[in-house]
Amino acid sequence: MILDGKALAKKIESKINQDAQEFYKTYGMKASLHTILIGDDEASKIYARSKIKTLKNLNMDGEIHQLSANTSQEDVISLIKSLSSRKDVHGIMVEMPIPKSLDRNAILSSIDPLKDVDGQNPLNLGYLMLGNEDHVPSTPRAVVRILEEYNVQISGKNVCIINRTPVVGKPLTMLMLNRDATVRICHSKTKNLENITKESDIIVIAIGKPLFLKENMVSEKSIVVDVGINSLNGKIVGDADFENIANKVSMITPVPGGVGSVTTILIVEQTLKNAKALIK
Ligand code: NAP
Repeated sequence: MILDGKALAKKIESKINQDAQEFYKTYGMKASLHTILIGDDEASKIYARSKIKTLKNLNMDGEIHQLSANTSQEDVISLIKSLSSRKDVHGIMVEMPIPKSLDRNAILSSIDPLKDVDGQNPLNLGYLMLGNEDHVPSTPRAVVRILEEYNVQISGKNVCIINRTPVVGKPLTMLMLNRDATVRICHSKTKNLENITKESDIIVIAIGKPLFLKENMVSEKSIVVDVGINSLNGKIVGDADFENIANKVSMITPVPGGVGSVTTILIVEQTLKNAKALIK
């Protein structure tokens, strides 16, 4: 069975469209997201533009702040603080990656936690550890949202997450624990990965290695959520070898059309959620 992220994204989009119209009618202002791009990463530019386009199609507003790669840390933080203080700004996010010369944690800490749309402010990551899911990173949220949409029971399941970053693996671990899963977190130093994946009920892979998850690493009961987005011979593919495992496993997300489609729309959804909370 294919877990169709694109269809879920459309469903979320239509609900946002109604709610955003209602917000505009009630408050006379549009919910608005500001993204900050530092440097010339082409993929980040595409992601940022795609979010703004989606916002504008959905009765919302958005703006990209393009900064050069040699912008100082002080200037980045000063921009974030000025956006944080504006009443017409409800969502702020910094597109990753940022230049290595900048202190990622200091920059993310300067986003008003209530305007943080990608849950990357360390305060919000801390709240997530305590079970509060008000501001959660969008990619792990997309993983859980897809599983919930297809009524996959998470409670009591053995989940294997291949990624240990603060953007995907660590927050996803918390979301899974909050839903009573038993979680194994794997990474580049994990031994016998294929035994762990094969034994798991749910496998979430986000390693950035095209077609890595092969037939010998999955079983008939596996539910595979593929977060990877890779370019291979001019095609976008995931971290799972979709063509060769889709017929073996019980459920799988495609790439493209899986997690990525849902991630973008959840950022938009969070912008509106923030706007509603902030205007009260
Ligand atoms: P990253 O920061 O490089 O992290 C990769 C993770 O995978 C690390 O934890 C790394 O382990 C682990 N890893 C790498 N090679 C491995 C191997 N051979 N076996 C087991 N674990 C391995 O990458 P990222 O930014 O998280 O992105 C990962 C992929 O997800 C990319 O394809 C990216 O495009 C995609 N992505 C998609 C979305 C979305 O919304 N769909 C969002 C974010 C990222 P160590 O910690 O030991 O290095």
